[in-house]
Amino acid sequence: MNYRHAFHAGNFADVHKHVVLVRIIERLCEKPTPFRVIDTHAGAGLYSLRAPEAERTGEWREGIGRLLEHRFAQDSDRLLAPYRDAVARFNPAGRLAVYPGSPLLCRALLRPQDRLIACELEPTAAAALARNLGRHRRAKAIAIDGWTALRAYIPPPERRGLVLVDPPYEQPDEFTRIADRLARAHRKWPTGIFLGWYPIKDRAGPELVASRLAEAGVPKILRSELSIASSAPERLQGSGLVIVNPPWRLADDLATVLPAIAAALGRGDGRSARLDWIRGEG
Ligand code: SAM
Repeated sequence: MNYRHAFHAGNFADVHKHVVLVRIIERLCEKPTPFRVIDTHAGAGLYSLRAPEAERTGEWREGIGRLLEHRFAQDSDRLLAPYRDAVARFNPAGRLAVYPGSPLLCRALLRPQDRLIACELEPTAAAALARNLGRHRRAKAIAIDGWTALRAYIPPPERRGLVLVDPPYEQPDEFTRIADRLARAHRKWPTGIFLGWYPIKDRAGPELVASRLAEAGVPKILRSELSIASSAPERLQGSGLVIVNPPWRLADDLATVLPAIAAALGRGDGRSARLDWIRGEG
């Protein structure tokens, strides 16, 4: 395990993933019944944007840096506000100094009745996650293999909620694995919401995820992809998400906000936002 999210925290892929994550949690919060979020590959939770890792790549400047500078139209602005406000809460001085990862963003949005389980296997990141999440009645950090967690912790007692699966793609079979494990998890918890992230370098990996999930019979799968044509061509060019059982009206939210994000973060012809149904509504 060599991957360290500190180099990439707050980049355009994090913005994409976290905007969708926050929109899903906002939709879950519309009903008073409790829900649980399970973050299978949680990372360290909080990242300094002044640290050598962030300074070296500067990726956050093309992500959260640009998003916060941009003036969005009113409808997108309203949908982005909960994400922006959550990031702002970690930066009380008003200047962007740190970026919250998925577990801390989730924790910031939970209500007293909701729960979070955040899993991380790499020992240094797991220790940082435990520190950053702190002792909290609603949120628990667990040093466990995320793929094991995906089997062991579902369905949760609340029977309502979301699983984020965000592996580092260090293994060549990670596209196959995420599709197969999501399909298996869906069979165990058919009403759960699952959000799986994948990188886009060419179409082979993303198409494999879509076709395997569809062939496994998962009935409702929404796909969201964002490309920004980075100023540094060696960097990741696209970020992809599959959303199994998206909450009602999430597709409408994303149809509004994702093209606006692509326009805000992207450059020239290479920027694009795609939203389509792999299976189900549409
Ligand atoms: N989800 C985080 C966020 O959005 O802020 C970022 C996670 S990062 C892309 C992937 C993380 O998975 C890394 O911190 C890595 O150490 C961790 N990891 C790698 N293999 C793992 C495994 N088998 N189980 C759990 N975590 C793992």
